[in-house]
Amino acid sequence: MNKKRAVIVNSKSFGKFTDAIRELEKFCHVSRIDVPKDICGADLAEKLRGAHFIIATSHPKYDRAFFKNNEDVVSILIHGIGVDNVDIQAATDNGIVIVKVPGIMEREAVAELTIGLMLSALRHIVQASNKVREGRWAERAKYVGFELAGKTVGIIGIGNIGSRVAELLINGFNAKVIAYDPYVSADRVRMMGAEPVDLEELLKNSDIITIHCPLTKETYHMLNENAFNKMRKGVILINTARGGLVDADALRKALEDGIVAAVALDVVEGEPIDEKHPLIKYENIIITPHIGAYTLEALTRMDSSLVNAVKTLLRGEIPENAVNPEVFQRDNLRIKKLLE
Ligand code: NAD
Repeated sequence: MNKKRAVIVNSKSFGKFTDAIRELEKFCHVSRIDVPKDICGADLAEKLRGAHFIIATSHPKYDRAFFKNNEDVVSILIHGIGVDNVDIQAATDNGIVIVKVPGIMEREAVAELTIGLMLSALRHIVQASNKVREGRWAERAKYVGFELAGKTVGIIGIGNIGSRVAELLINGFNAKVIAYDPYVSADRVRMMGAEPVDLEELLKNSDIITIHCPLTKETYHMLNENAFNKMRKGVILINTARGGLVDADALRKALEDGIVAAVALDVVEGEPIDEKHPLIKYENIIITPHIGAYTLEALTRMDSSLVNAVKTLLRGEIPENAVNPEVFQRDNLRIKKLLE
């Protein structure tokens, strides 16, 4: 069989810590490219001409214009869980298979980072450490924080990651967990040890809010000015899901009004951001550069899952974690044509 072409687009982690590239090179020519995060679909299609498999990350967007203008790509394999930057319907219409990483592979890593960020926000760990670096140990009395034990933590979206965060909070920290998730039954939420509530109650009664739902049309800017105005004064906000869930202008206002006391984000709308981003100037914000899944354990599982998916596709079979398996029923299925 002729070797196919695989291109790694913008991913800083795929194959960097494992032998995934060597594995992939057994049946593909592999290259890496970086493209601007806001490149338009037609230009992206041109840049990826001749590529069959795309190993993708959370940017750029793969929109309908991309799928319409590129005739070579047979599959986009996302090195992550979120598929919000891919127009799945347009991919299906054009006979292209979208694959993502099974959620379970990132569950522990993201949940543990969420707890780490929560503790950092409660105890000002990053800011206090920075003071020591500046030779200002004596200012330590500024860094009196709060304990997690006994606090009410509101979880928005209690799925794969949210449920593990709940488990860690309840069993590890004796926190009280309340959860809002319109797609999980109240009984299931109770079985997880959390109390099911509606969004209003969650916003009103949480000392800490952590958000774990996917970014969709429905959840875009879910935490907007209206939502911040319902929160307790002094609430702490954690977001390790997607930047677009939080309206950054409303968050700035809530910080300035003292509604939000501290924030820890692993994701920011429009990421990657630079040091000029308007959120950076706030002393009580911690931002990490989307490192939720960056543990060696998670990356090892994720890399091998995508390599296995390419192998499965090359056998003409449906990968276990195909997002649009229905595409295999279509006459224009591109992988089928490529294998003929
Ligand atoms: P999941 O699908 O297992 O869980 C998401 C939950 O959100 C589901 O239970 C769903 O019912 C719920 N939900 C959907 N719409 C909702 C709404 N309107 N209000 C409240 N809840 C709603 O997904 P997951 O694997 O737990 O991932 C959660 C998020 O974490 C996703 O946004 C994903 O993109 C993000 N993520 C980030 C990183 C990172 O590196 N920081 C890594 C992996 C995943």
